[in-house]
Amino acid sequence: MNVLVINGMEVAALLPMSDAIEVMADALQTLARGDAILPLRPVMWLPDRIGALGMMPAYLGGEPSIMGLKVVSVFPGNRDTPYDSHQGAVMLFETNHGRPLAIIDASAITAIRTAAVTGVATRALAREDAGDLAILGSGVQAQTHLAAMLNVRPIRRIRVWSRTEENAREFAARESERHTVEIEVVETAQGAVDGADLICTVTSATAPVLKGEWIAEGAHVNAVGSSVPFARELDTQAVARSRMYVDRRESALHEAGDFLFPKREGAVDDSHIQGELGDLLIGRVEGRQRPSDITLFKSLGLAVEDLAAGYHIYLKALATNVGTAVDLGGARV
Ligand code: NDP
Repeated sequence: MNVLVINGMEVAALLPMSDAIEVMADALQTLARGDAILPLRPVMWLPDRIGALGMMPAYLGGEPSIMGLKVVSVFPGNRDTPYDSHQGAVMLFETNHGRPLAIIDASAITAIRTAAVTGVATRALAREDAGDLAILGSGVQAQTHLAAMLNVRPIRRIRVWSRTEENAREFAARESERHTVEIEVVETAQGAVDGADLICTVTSATAPVLKGEWIAEGAHVNAVGSSVPFARELDTQAVARSRMYVDRRESALHEAGDFLFPKREGAVDDSHIQGELGDLLIGRVEGRQRPSDITLFKSLGLAVEDLAAGYHIYLKALATNVGTAVDLGGARV
C-alpha cells in the first residue's frame, strides 16, 4: 500500500494562496451544510506548559469523502529557534476501507490554510474598498496573512507592528521584496492600526495587543493568534464593538479567549456571535450591515480545513508526481 509523504516545500508549491482560499471556502460551506464530522480537539499540555500536542480529527463529505487527523505540537517559544511553532503531520484516509493515503507536513498546511480562511472571511466581511492593512505580529502567520490579504482586497497601504521591532523590520524587508509592496514598520500597535480598515492580529500574545478604542469605524478585524481560553489578543471593547463571526461556534464557546474573557466579564453573551463563516457563505446568516460596522472574524482553526487542504495537495501531488511513496498500512500481513 503506497502512502504519499509530502514535505513542507512541496506543500508550499502545491498550495498557492489563491487556490487555498477557494479550497477553504468550499470546505467551510460543506461544514455549514452539515456534511462533516468535527469533534472538539483534545489538547495535551506538557506539565510546565511550555508546549502542547493538539489532535484534530475530522470527516469531510464530498466526492469522495475523506477522513483524517492533524497531530500538531504547538511551542510558542520556538520563535527564537530554527523551528516552527507548529509542527506535525496531517494524515489522510479514504472512507471505503479506511486506507491511509498521505502524510503531509503540518507546519506548511497550517501556515497557508489559516491565512486562506482569513482571506475568505475578509472577502465576505470587509468593505469592498478596504485597503489600509495593519498586521500585528511578524511571524509565520503574518507572512501568509499578508499574501491572503493581497489576494482578496486592493491593498494600498501596509503597516506592521511586532513586539520585537527588529523582527518587524526583517519582516518588512523580506515581504516587501517578495510581493513588491511597501511595508511600514510602526513602533506601537496603536500607531499601526490607527485608521486601518483591515487588521490582522497574528501574535502568540496572551494579553490584548489590540484595543477596541483604537479601531476605526468600518474596519474589519481578523483575530487569529489566540486559540485557547486563557489567552486573548483583543480587549473586551474590541469584541463588544464588533459584529462577530467565528469559524465554528462550538469551538469558540470552548476555546476562544478573545470571546470568553469578555463573556466572563459580562460584556457579551453567546448571542454576540452572529454566526459561522460557512453559514455566511451559504447565506444562512447576514454579514456586514453598514459601511461603518466593525466586523470581526475570530479564527481558531478547524481540522476540516487541514483535511481539505491536505486532500487538494494530495491530488495535485499524484497528478504531478510529487512526494515520496512509502509502503505503509493496507492489506493484512
Ligand atoms: P510565530 O512564532 O512565527 O510568531 C509569533 C508572533 O507573536 C511574533 O510576531 C511575536 O513577536 C509575537 N509575540 C509572541 N509573544 C508575544 C507577546 N507576548 N506579545 C505580543 N506579541 C507576541 O507564530 P505563528 O505566526 O506561527 O503563530 C502566531 C499565532 O497564531 C500563535 O499564537 C498561533 O498559535 C496562532 N495560530 C492560530 C491558528 C488558527 O487557526 N487560528 C493557526 C496557527 C497559528 P516578536 O517576534 O516580535 O517577538
